[in-house]
Amino acid sequence: MLHTPHSSLQVAAVPAQRVPERNRSQDAPWHTEAVCRRDEAGLFFAPSKEPTAARLSREEAAKRVCARCPVMVECREHALMQPEPYGVWGGLTAAERRVVLARRRRRELELKKAARAAAAGRIAG
Ligand code: SF4
Repeated sequence: MLHTPHSSLQVAAVPAQRVPERNRSQDAPWHTEAVCRRDEAGLFFAPSKEPTAARLSREEAAKRVCARCPVMVECREHALMQPEPYGVWGGLTAAERRVVLARRRRRELELKKAARAAAAGRIAG
């Protein structure tokens, strides 16, 4: 099971020091390098009843952390593929991830439609 990078379980499970990319073993999970392993500021998940202005400010702060994270791409794909319904992952909020997923689904449908049309053209021609 893949642990979330900014969970308390993960904090306990990984060493405190960041592992440089060049030294990461091929088998080491991506989240061992997560910059947010110790989310002490609570940036990545909303507290209950968070006002909109506070949420926007917190999410922007979380995104700034993500922007300097060496595993942002892996994290983002993980969050999209699960999908993770809450929090900032890979520099994207939950709402932004829903937009990305909707675009991907639309693109896949377009590609399938184009492939079917091409196949039908080959059969007819
Ligand atoms: S990209 Fe952001 S959420 Fe993902 S591991 Fe890095 S700091 Fe954490």
